[in-house]
Amino acid sequence: MLASGTSACGCLVGVYQVWAGAPLAVVDHAHTQCPHRHRQGDVVDNESATPTAEHA
Ligand SMILES: [Zn+2]
Repeated sequence: MLASGTSACGCLVGVYQVWAGAPLAVVDHAHTQCPHRHRQGDVVDNESATPTAEHA
């Protein structure tokens, strides 16, 4: 794990380097009031580390 922290939505996420590309942020503990309805194990955009991330 490269880092861990709280996402903007309140979920606790861990950042993992999987490939040579951008690291992945995975939900470790979903916030009960998460507006995105994240669940543990979900891969989320690493918004905190990539402020220019696009939102589909
Ligand atoms: Zn969330």
